[in-house]
Amino acid sequence: MTINGESHVYGIVGYPVKHSLSPIFQNSAFEFFNLNAVYVPFEVKPEDFETALKGFKVIGVRGLNITLPHKERALELSDFPDEHAKAIGSANTLKFTEEGVYAYNTDWIGFLKALSQLMPEIRSREVLLLGAGGSARAVAYALKKEGARVYVWNRTLERAERLAEEFGFQVVQKPEEVLDRVQLIVNSTSSGLKEDDPPLFNYELLNERHSVFDLIYKDTPLLRSARRKGCAYKDGLDMLLYQGMESFRIWTGLEVPYEVVKCAVVRYIHGHIRS
Ligand code: NAP
Repeated sequence: MTINGESHVYGIVGYPVKHSLSPIFQNSAFEFFNLNAVYVPFEVKPEDFETALKGFKVIGVRGLNITLPHKERALELSDFPDEHAKAIGSANTLKFTEEGVYAYNTDWIGFLKALSQLMPEIRSREVLLLGAGGSARAVAYALKKEGARVYVWNRTLERAERLAEEFGFQVVQKPEEVLDRVQLIVNSTSSGLKEDDPPLFNYELLNERHSVFDLIYKDTPLLRSARRKGCAYKDGLDMLLYQGMESFRIWTGLEVPYEVVKCAVVRYIHGHIRS
């Protein structure tokens, strides 16, 4: 890739952002189409986000992905939020134009596309949603749109109650209450990122009738238990790729093949493991 005076700049804004895989696969998408563009990470503290956004406009950045903790603020500060981002309450994709900043949420699309590989039909299925944070809202929006029947559990009960009320779901005090009736379990908490996080429920109760989707994009204790218990399971990597592919489509109008972005990430991860 040659960067010159006409290169377009895209990026991801987060705090922290160093761990992000988005630069790896978004740059592979630009390279695939031979576009004169580059995608870079921007680590911005919460108190500096508004100033940074003004800066991005002034210097002519074309598009951004937004990650924790800026997604809600990104929606508030945008000029043209789309209906899905408004319903979810956050934006993970911004597009800068002459008229103003357009805001989108592509997490729910990424979730649904990845979920379809695990469970092709979710209408009327019973689902246990673990978590009530930002990503849980995108998952909740997607599950409601698809007509699933959802039970929500969250460590902080009041957040689960708020989410359930808004989306018309039921709250459970403990995940164990509904394990025998749900077909799908979605972990949208950050528990499992660290190996010593306490389990979210008794994983011994999993069985082969459960499908398990963990939004975390690595092997977690929950996913290892799911594998051991014969469940169908999926980590969050494909969701990450599909949400990014949708952002890329919004910015460029082009649909990058899944294999292109997947290969870029797998090659990067393998290179990292070897080094
Ligand atoms: P968030 O808004 O900060 O919410 C965090 C959630 O995790 C809350 O429900 C919180 O519960 C819960 N939680 C945190 N630590 C916990 C623990 N030890 N035990 C039980 N619950 C715990 O974060 P988020 O944006 O929703 O992200 C959550 C996870 O999803 C992260 O790991 C993130 O990497 C992943 N994610 C993946 C994708 C993808 O594309 N694959 C996209 C978005 C997010 P409380 O309310 O009680 O604090």
